[in-house]
Amino acid sequence: MEIVVIGTGGGYGESIVLRWDDGKSAVIDSCIDPQRESCLPLEYLRTTGADLEKVQFIVATHWHDDHIRGISEVLYACPNAIFWTTAARDWSIFIRLMLADGRNSGAVLKGKSDTSQRALSELEVCMEIIASRGNHGPERAQGDRLVYREKDLNLEIFALSPSELAISKYEQEIAIHIDEIGKFRTRIPRIGPNDKSVALFVQYKGECIILGADLEIGTTTANGSTGWNDVMNGKQCLHPGLRARVLKVAHHGSAGAQHLGFWSDLVAPEVMSLMTPWQKCATNYVPDDIELDFVAGRSAHTYITSTHGSIGKPKPRDVETKKLISKVGLRLSEVKYRYGLIRIVYDEANENWNCELRGSAFGFK
Ligand SMILES: [Zn+2]
Repeated sequence: MEIVVIGTGGGYGESIVLRWDDGKSAVIDSCIDPQRESCLPLEYLRTTGADLEKVQFIVATHWHDDHIRGISEVLYACPNAIFWTTAARDWSIFIRLMLADGRNSGAVLKGKSDTSQRALSELEVCMEIIASRGNHGPERAQGDRLVYREKDLNLEIFALSPSELAISKYEQEIAIHIDEIGKFRTRIPRIGPNDKSVALFVQYKGECIILGADLEIGTTTANGSTGWNDVMNGKQCLHPGLRARVLKVAHHGSAGAQHLGFWSDLVAPEVMSLMTPWQKCATNYVPDDIELDFVAGRSAHTYITSTHGSIGKPKPRDVETKKLISKVGLRLSEVKYRYGLIRIVYDEANENWNCELRGSAFGFK
């Protein structure tokens, strides 16, 4: 089993590639290289010689820009992959809901935000691809639902979220607003996309891996729970005593996604924690130093795909260099963002995970 976490700086995105026996693989979320606009998970699979016909499934954990850019390209390139995403009754409802989510983040629907626009176009292309393959829609992920299993290999992959409550709130929202999408500003509280995010549990030959997506702590009410609160209420797929030795830290390490009970009960002390940064602007980013310390303090190894943000303004060129550039007619664009890759491979004989870092990825300890 090989797990590759790809992350770009500057809040551009996150993607995970899983690869196991017989060249089979799966892709969870997608992001693109900000310079070349190439789809990074696809590029990784292609450059490592993967057979795209053996991509078993693709998961869009939630419809946020930093997780879905290029996902339709992944789906198009992988003819046999089953597409999983947050539960929704049908595609048309799903689109309406996503538009509502776009507005939830403050965007007015009339002039949709870039984020919701991009998510929508990715989704529309995914719909066309799925329809052209004769399928009715995506598979609906939900807590405790089996996503993939190979008994002979002792491999099983389950969704840990979204919860029953998150889904029923989701449907309530639709029921209330179904005819009014695009016309009004609502006053009712909305459940954000992160609460509908699909966290995954992977069990491979007794090893436990948790991929936390952007799932946040969530809430608990008399009607049930959402987020990690719901996961910690118990999931049948989580065998007693099994603790994650590999963890894709939820929601870019933000404090709002770090459930204390989760870290104490479901994470092994020897865990290898993998993270990607996210940044909206110079002052709005995760993880900050306190959040990094939280994760590093509870992990045997902590790796992140890059520092958050851009690499800063480039040094001004000297006059001679400028002259040379104009002489040869070069058009250069500055490299603003960087991306990194954390690749960990299970060593079955020694029962441990080996890590390799590429690009801007680095380790804390
Ligand atoms: Zn995210």
